[in-house]
Amino acid sequence: MTALIWFRDDLSLADHAALQAGAEEAGGIVALYVLDEESAETRPLGGAARWWLHESLSRLRADLAALGIPLVLRRGASERIVAEVAEESRATHVFWNRRYGSERHLDARLKASMRERGIDARSFRGGLLFEPWTVATATGTPYRVYTPFWRACLALPAPAAPLPVPETLTAAALQPASEALDAWQLQPTRPNWAGGLADRWTPGETAALGSLDRFLDERAPGYRERRDFPAIDAGSELSPHLRWGEISPRTVWHRALAAATETGVDVGTFLSEVGWREFASHTLFHHTGVDRAGNAEPGLHVRGINPQFDGFPWRRPDANELAAWQRGETGFGVVDAGMRELWQSGFMHNRVRMITASFLTKNLLIDWRVGEAWFWDTLVDADAASNPFNWQWVSGCGADAAPYFRVFNPETQQHKFDRDGGYVDRWAPDSVMLPQLVDLRETRVRALAAYESIKLAP
Ligand code: FAD
Repeated sequence: MTALIWFRDDLSLADHAALQAGAEEAGGIVALYVLDEESAETRPLGGAARWWLHESLSRLRADLAALGIPLVLRRGASERIVAEVAEESRATHVFWNRRYGSERHLDARLKASMRERGIDARSFRGGLLFEPWTVATATGTPYRVYTPFWRACLALPAPAAPLPVPETLTAAALQPASEALDAWQLQPTRPNWAGGLADRWTPGETAALGSLDRFLDERAPGYRERRDFPAIDAGSELSPHLRWGEISPRTVWHRALAAATETGVDVGTFLSEVGWREFASHTLFHHTGVDRAGNAEPGLHVRGINPQFDGFPWRRPDANELAAWQRGETGFGVVDAGMRELWQSGFMHNRVRMITASFLTKNLLIDWRVGEAWFWDTLVDADAASNPFNWQWVSGCGADAAPYFRVFNPETQQHKFDRDGGYVDRWAPDSVMLPQLVDLRETRVRALAAYESIKLAP
């Protein structure tokens, strides 16, 4: 009996329920990853994410090889490829861990067609702490506000303990041929702009665990007080590892609580941030289809969850203004530093993400989906749930959104959170010499008037 294990957003061996089931139930394993740039349900990856994926797959392949299992790489529409590889390997089982966005519809179709062929197709818990259908209000509807959502999560039975790496894995006798990872050209060559990404990040399961340990040992004690200051390395920097499933949120949860028991460190604030990730995914789960390009305008990948904002009077993006924002040349230090940190290293500090997103959507009055698309292309942690969720939160049109009248003033924010200038000096020391792109006061008034116009609309 052969189990085909289809790896997706779970590029690890530990806490991998599908792999564990394969190890327990089948005589041999085939491990498969499909680069699917064809199916309508999958969102094409951005540039920084493609770089990460290449690195992560090469590490997963090495980790599997150490256990004697080859990783089969194939490119194409998932439904066709999984069926082909199942046939080539004469798989009796096809197992995968769940995804919670639009891809789940593709997964459901595939499961049904595999079962019709007599194959035992099964899905297992995915990269969330709580399955979205288990968290509901007293009336059975999904939560729209974070605080009661997280409170309800904490009242549920604790997430299951993470599974260890299976002790024994046996490769199936029939191993289908793999494509070459390099042939997928996930990494940039001419020009190779990924140097800054490689300097900052080490993708893969081993590095993910290392980041968690470093965080719990060194950063967790000061996290609550320090996390809003971008010049300080106070966060866990786990977001890309969580995005790619190199570490599971269950591992994060249980290790954090173990550290709290051992050392007395307070991990409540940190876990509540992981709760925001959970809330973003639950929100997407309950607004099916908003994460897909086919539903949106050209160049924009997603739809908003609040139809009231469909008629919002966004300005047509002025090419010069948009380019100044993207390149970090607005003349506002913290905005420029954030946008350059993003461009150079594939990451931006959370508070600065809020400031730069507010600047685009309020001071420039440019559609949040334009900014979302830029972040999607440039973030190593670009996530189909968290990215649109947070953009809508900042621009005042999402779930539990910041009120629309909350326009971050980048100068006040810089004064509060980068008073010594450490962050701006590091990423955009020349910003102070640049003319300021907009008048903050005038553009704030313009944004408030625009929001008022839809608020008053019948
Ligand atoms: P920590 O402070 O160590 O938090 C621990 C973990 O909690 C993070 O790794 C992350 O998985 C999760 N988390 C924390 N804050 C949030 C949040 N607001 N929403 C969802 N999850 C959160 N995060 C992404 O993972 N992918 C994205 O595409 C993304 N896009 C964003 C876009 C905007 C406009 C904004 C304002 C925020 C976005 N975030 C996104 C959330 C947040 O900025 C990052 O998760 C965080 O900066 C990652 O740093 P960290 O790992 O050190 O976080």
